Amino acid sequence: DNAFSGSVEFLRDEHLGGLLAAGFDEQSCRSRYQSGIYGKGLSDKPSSYLISRLRKYEALHKQCGPYTESYNKTLKELRSGHFSGSSSACKYIVWISFSGLGNRILTLASAFLYALLTNRVLLVDPGVDMIDLFCEPFPDVSWFLPPDFPLKSHLNDFNQQSARCYGNMLKNRSVTNSAVPSHVYLHLAHDYDDHDKLFFCDEDQSFLHNVPWLVMKTDNYFIPSLFLMSSFEQELMDLFPNKETVFHFLGRYLFHPTNQVWGLVTRYYQAYLDKADEKVGIQIRVFDTRTGPFQHVLDQILACTLKENLLPDINQHQDIISSSGKQKSKAVLMTSLSSGYFEKVRNMYWEYPTVTGEVVSIFQPSHEEYQQTEKQMHNQKAWAEMYLLSLTDVLVTSSWSTFGYVAQGLGGLKPWILYKPENNTAPDPPCRRAMSMEPCFHAPPFYDCKAKKGIDTGVLVPHVRHCEDMSWGLKLV
Ligand code: GDP
Repeated sequence: DNAFSGSVEFLRDEHLGGLLAAGFDEQSCRSRYQSGIYGKGLSDKPSSYLISRLRKYEALHKQCGPYTESYNKTLKELRSGHFSGSSSACKYIVWISFSGLGNRILTLASAFLYALLTNRVLLVDPGVDMIDLFCEPFPDVSWFLPPDFPLKSHLNDFNQQSARCYGNMLKNRSVTNSAVPSHVYLHLAHDYDDHDKLFFCDEDQSFLHNVPWLVMKTDNYFIPSLFLMSSFEQELMDLFPNKETVFHFLGRYLFHPTNQVWGLVTRYYQAYLDKADEKVGIQIRVFDTRTGPFQHVLDQILACTLKENLLPDINQHQDIISSSGKQKSKAVLMTSLSSGYFEKVRNMYWEYPTVTGEVVSIFQPSHEEYQQTEKQMHNQKAWAEMYLLSLTDVLVTSSWSTFGYVAQGLGGLKPWILYKPENNTAPDPPCRRAMSMEPCFHAPPFYDCKAKKGIDTGVLVPHVRHCEDMSWGLKLV
């Protein structure tokens, strides 16, 4: 297909065709209203069922969110330690702020979908910076866990050894249907064990169903495995007839940059990207303990973009290339912790003409050198850069990087993925086109809950496959 028709654009109106609820204060979160008009529309139409479930969720959130009567009531149970009662009471999933920003965005979307599927209310641990990064996504009542939440000071103490850790409870045989605990901790981080992974079994879900407070810590986009569970199967089909749009819709629904971050996005976009005929994003993430830049990574970037015709080649033998008419312009947005790759590519297009006569300009908003997750401006820039990448027409991403997954998913783009280099050499081929715009689940379970034995979960259904960039990962296509 045409390299530059990454997405067919639908629904550029300010509520994204009903995906977003009306009735927010426009001034307090401009990105919500401007993303469809100023940025990009959606790349597909959300199902009317998804839209109705989102409205239903918002009503539940309003009824059960922080400091509502229902919330105060279930808190009493949490304090008492045991669940007394009524099945009509509100139930919650508490998301713990954990890991880098790309990871956090993917896990929040996962936790929200799980909340939607299980009629729970999602409450977000604000951590150190969540409030400065994202607008409130639900009308009327906050999604942030209040500071006086009883387990608040313990959130960071939960681990696999905790008495209330679900995997640990299974090991200790303390899971009984007669005494439902008021809260259970779900350890779904990459280092989780076989007991923790039983979260993905229907039978275990029926126990968890009764627990009023679930607390979740994860750094994984676990949605692909929810699609393999029979209890959620029908609902997921109805919500997402097109399975590769799960993160695209959830992401565009949930994640709206705060005005501060939106300022970073729009000022950069207007100054450097807006006027170009075509916008190319290149996201470079090098998982290496040594400090770069590395020649083999530069070679790989060039090999991929030239081979796939994403950028024009240069002519090293001629000083001027004559071309008739107005020359097409390409703006290339590079993101990386280091500035080395950007400088080399920019110099290349300065020192030599392109063979096509196209004008290529190369930009990189920041080079933060190393991950500094605890710093506010650092994370705001990271979020702005993911968003800017999502506004490009053509995207190149790095293997294993959730930063890139967020950009591709929000933008509705199927990126070219740079394969992970081994032994300091550029892989051949350097990259491949992604099968879908969905993120990869890096640590999925390989277990058949009914047969109680290991299986390859990447070959069970056509829409859950192994990822392009990680052979054991799972993604929706
Ligand atoms: P992942 O590690 O690539 O999966 O992505 P994460 O976002 O979870 O963690 C990487 C973190 O490193 C980011 O959140 C940023 O803090 C920082 N980082 C990595 N690459 C970039 C980049 O290109 N630009 C900026 N501004 N920060 C980056």
